[in-house]
Amino acid sequence: MLALFKKTLPWRTVLCLSAAAMLWGASQAAAAEAARRVNLPAVQSGSSSAAGVADPAAARKELYEQMSAATGIPWFRFAAIDQYERTIAKKKVPADALASSRITAISIPGPVWSGPLNPDQADTSPDSISFFGGMGYDGSGDGLADSSNDADLLYSMARHLLKYGNSANDFSIGVWEYYHNGRAAQRVAQFAKLYEHFGRLDLSGSAFPLPLGNNYAYRSTWGTGRSWGGARIHEGTDLFAPQGLPVRSTCFGIVETKGWNRYGGWRIGIRDIENRYHYYAHLSGYDKSVTRGDIVTPGQIIGWVGSSGYGSPGTQGKFPPHLHYGIYRDRGITEWAFDPYPLLKQWENQEYRALRKNKRSK
Ligand SMILES: [Zn+2]
Repeated sequence: MLALFKKTLPWRTVLCLSAAAMLWGASQAAAAEAARRVNLPAVQSGSSSAAGVADPAAARKELYEQMSAATGIPWFRFAAIDQYERTIAKKKVPADALASSRITAISIPGPVWSGPLNPDQADTSPDSISFFGGMGYDGSGDGLADSSNDADLLYSMARHLLKYGNSANDFSIGVWEYYHNGRAAQRVAQFAKLYEHFGRLDLSGSAFPLPLGNNYAYRSTWGTGRSWGGARIHEGTDLFAPQGLPVRSTCFGIVETKGWNRYGGWRIGIRDIENRYHYYAHLSGYDKSVTRGDIVTPGQIIGWVGSSGYGSPGTQGKFPPHLHYGIYRDRGITEWAFDPYPLLKQWENQEYRALRKNKRSK
């Protein structure tokens, strides 16, 4: 078994693995104890929901960091997988999470956890799980490999990932081997990059896509017909504005697409940490600092209002200049457009309020 391992993995990986194993051995008890402490507040408070944890995000960050210390995997990679699973969860609060003190959203299916041929799909014995080739391990130090325990889940995920090595590229391969889904692998890589860059979990800031003022106009145009390209419904909001007005990122995010699209013209697509894709179309040009894979912040200028689109690359002026803004939500298998109008109103009002507050305090 070990010989096979050495043959199929580069020596660096084997070193990483043994280093991680030693590290794990030394700090396992401490990490397990800390992981149990993380779960304690919800249990002690007698609350029946995960919302009973005073600050679930802080508790999650602490758990990622403990697992990172124990396994050598950077905290932001645990955070990225957890966040990906959170954003594709079918229900916002799973029924079993209501009755538990779970703080992560990672869920590993029974046959994967206990082994596909394991007669006991709810097996919690690390030995028999290992015998049947399941991926479940005990990360909390209680002797059980429990697929509803956060520490066990993160540690099992870590053991899976460490098989591929510890670089960003190895991580991507490990994630691909777990999900067998290119889009999932892309999302997890994007989220990891965002978390690593900002060093925190909260990336919830927002901005209106245009500089506030009196020179733009928009109304709810969700679902109305379009004039070009056949019978497609309008998935977004048109903000009419003068040519050349700056277009700003509405969120913390990562540039996923940039370039010509025959409908959208010069367009840009930005993925945020909630797995929403923000789509800005008909631009007259891009800010030169923005390229694919770049990280952007709310209010950062990404391009300028124009009238590009509805034809071959460079087509302009087939309609009045405006920003077409759309938001799509990735649910794992499908991506849904939803009406951005209420959010646009909310962001605009928030910014006006913040401006007024700033003026008063000066
Ligand atoms: Zn539009």
